[in-house]
Amino acid sequence: MRYRAGTTSPALDGVSLTVGNGEVVAVVGESGSGKSTMARAVLGLTPSTARLSGRIAFHGRDLLGLGARRWREIRGRRIGLIAQDPLAALDPVKRVGDQVAEALLAHRLAGRRSVRGQVAEALAAAGLDDPDLQARRYPHELSGGMRQRVLIGLIIALRPQLIVADEPTSALDVTVQRTILDQITALNADGTGVLLITHDLAVATERAHRIVVLSHGQVVETGPAARVLNEP
Ligand code: ADP
Ligand code: ADP
Repeated sequence: MRYRAGTTSPALDGVSLTVGNGEVVAVVGESGSGKSTMARAVLGLTPSTARLSGRIAFHGRDLLGLGARRWREIRGRRIGLIAQDPLAALDPVKRVGDQVAEALLAHRLAGRRSVRGQVAEALAAAGLDDPDLQARRYPHELSGGMRQRVLIGLIIALRPQLIVADEPTSALDVTVQRTILDQITALNADGTGVLLITHDLAVATERAHRIVVLSHGQVVETGPAARVLNEP
């Protein structure tokens, strides 16, 4: 995958990676190694000016070349996102509860009458205290950890089969980090696959079944955490 045609070196080069059901795969690598490029490709967020070739398969379906409408069906509902900056994944001018409600309605997972209750339930399950009150807030009125919990609430509500977590905790303080990672681990325990992008080797070792090391857009190492990180 290249951001520009011509001489620029590819941002991803011959990368092959599978996340199984119920598996946490951590992608580690130095800044600029291609981690976010990979996360964006899996979410259909590669800029249209980029050249992406190969195959991205999801439950037997090829995702490359899907139109915008099909992507809207998949993103959120089938493949959930936890971003480093949850503000980037939330609409700044909509109350967070309305955003969860709209997603539930758009994907036909709730009816008009039941949707309020389902939103409160999902936000409560994501660890937001007083969910009915928080649901009426705008993203900028919440702390970073609370916004991250809103994204987790969206995942609890929409139940995607895969979660792409791009540096989910690097902007949070340590105690909040742990609760967010615990929630991702709990979602995984229910069978959801997780692609965990992180520069934090401790997080990768503790949370992933398998680690993939990227360098200059290529996979240079892959395997169980203990083996990959102990090799010289
Ligand atoms: P990481 O997430 O590991 O820090 P990135 O995927 O962001 O790495 O970047 C991989 C490479 O692609 C880098 O050389 C980066 O400068 C380049 N790159 C990332 N995003 C863009 C973009 N939108 N346009 C052009 N080049 C980009
Ligand atoms: P992250 O690793 O969190 O994605 P980056 O610094 O790689 O942070 O990217 C921040 C933004 O800048 C992204 O939208 C990315 O697409 C863009 N970007 C990164 N590298 C380049 C680049 N070389 N040229 C143009 N845009 C880039």
